[in-house]
Amino acid sequence: MPANEPAVSRVLFITPELTPLAKTGGLGDVAGGLPPALKALGLDVRLVMPLYGDIQREAHGLRPAGLEVRVVVAGQMKPCQVWQGQVGGCPVYLLGNDEYFSRPGLYGRMHGDFPDNLQRFVFLCRGAVELARALDWPAQVVHAHDWQTALLPAYLATAPFDLGPLATAASVLTIHNLAFQGIYPRYDFHLTGLPSHMDDIEGAEYWGNISLLKAGLMTAGAITTVSPTYAAEIQTPELGMGMDGILRRRSADLHGIINGVDYAQWSPGADALLPATYSVNDLGGKTACRRALLEAFALDDSQPGRLLMGFIGRLTHQKGVSLIAEAGEALLEGGASLALLGTGDAEMEVALGHLAARHPGRVGLKLTFSEKLAHLLQAGSDLMLMPSRFEPCGLNQMYALRYGTPPLVHATGGLKDTVSPFDPASGQGTGFVFSEFSREALLEQAHRAAQVFAQPVLWQRLVANGMTQDFSWTASATRYLELYQAVAKRR
Ligand code: ADP
Repeated sequence: MPANEPAVSRVLFITPELTPLAKTGGLGDVAGGLPPALKALGLDVRLVMPLYGDIQREAHGLRPAGLEVRVVVAGQMKPCQVWQGQVGGCPVYLLGNDEYFSRPGLYGRMHGDFPDNLQRFVFLCRGAVELARALDWPAQVVHAHDWQTALLPAYLATAPFDLGPLATAASVLTIHNLAFQGIYPRYDFHLTGLPSHMDDIEGAEYWGNISLLKAGLMTAGAITTVSPTYAAEIQTPELGMGMDGILRRRSADLHGIINGVDYAQWSPGADALLPATYSVNDLGGKTACRRALLEAFALDDSQPGRLLMGFIGRLTHQKGVSLIAEAGEALLEGGASLALLGTGDAEMEVALGHLAARHPGRVGLKLTFSEKLAHLLQAGSDLMLMPSRFEPCGLNQMYALRYGTPPLVHATGGLKDTVSPFDPASGQGTGFVFSEFSREALLEQAHRAAQVFAQPVLWQRLVANGMTQDFSWTASATRYLELYQAVAKRR
């Protein structure tokens, strides 16, 4: 082996989401962005994910892989179709089974999870082992993502069945959001395929139930989460969501590595989804995007100088949507307009719907998932609102920085790690940051933003500071590679 070639060269990603094939949030973007960056460092990264019914096979150039795979779930042999494609130059294998995946939706429809999610993701995790066997491909490290894939590290550690070429693989489990833990009734333990000793407080047992995430946290070679601040926060009772004790126990193996941005997808200078492109040296196109945004959201532009605030995200408790609803009237009184894009909890949709209905022309609301509108919002807004209660990493604020749309954020998790408060005196900083999670604290920062916005030279400085930040994947991919080396050595 040449001296400069990494000792770990084969890594299997197992993921429930992958941009552009299937995505509900940031996890999909990470699964699409990190492997190509690792490949650029010399690794052979292959991905495995479900063949969801929604995936446009032809549009994404997928084809049958010609592999024979069968997967045992709860003692029954299930057929498995294997399809194959590429994302960012890395091979992707998609495991299909009509019973589990030929339906619309990733985890559920509208407002409820699928009742058979446990079996669906057991199928994925056991299927990954069968895939490695069919490919005869001995990955040295398996990198799992969130509860949906957390059983695979547990299988690797406990070997309840023949692991074939993965028998000596080490594992890394990344927590993208600790709020999702894969919790099921304890009487369903037998479905997991784990050995009986894992039906215990030292295994998958979790407050009288079982948690797939916990099974992975107890057994993975290393645990990562997506920002240094969130790595510290999840070890506290406040943000540990019941897992803080376990995470404190494993703190020597818990690492916070900030997510990167896939600038091939998110750059205002080369964004095919925008009506006009622009750069830090020529912001003309941003004005055209702003006009298109106002039109798309039916917002009134008769009064110049309004601060146009955007929001993109899941409409959930986590994202601080209630704060936007509570502060909405005051934001409008302060002269702002709002363009809001998201889907989520019914009560949040209703709260924002009321605000929009009361203020036509000042509040535009689209309750839909649209990649195109998300890009338009990043480019056309003046300011990006991200008042999340907690935020493991957050990608929107990093996209907003690159699009010249300073973010206004709550100082939590990755938001704290990626946005620095703007100081008009020194001209340093990239956005507006509030510490206490309250309507007043948000409004105070919105007020500061409006003051800076009213001073074009100062605002230009702030915009340029953000646009020149570099959150590309290379630095984070290097950290992951170091971690892969460390876990593989220990295994
Ligand atoms: P999370 O992963 O918690 O949902 P992130 O900020 O990390 O939050 O990532 C959110 C990603 O999902 C971004 O790429 C964002 O643009 C996208 N997104 C969220 N909601 C929507 C929506 N309604 N339409 C389009 N994209 C959305």
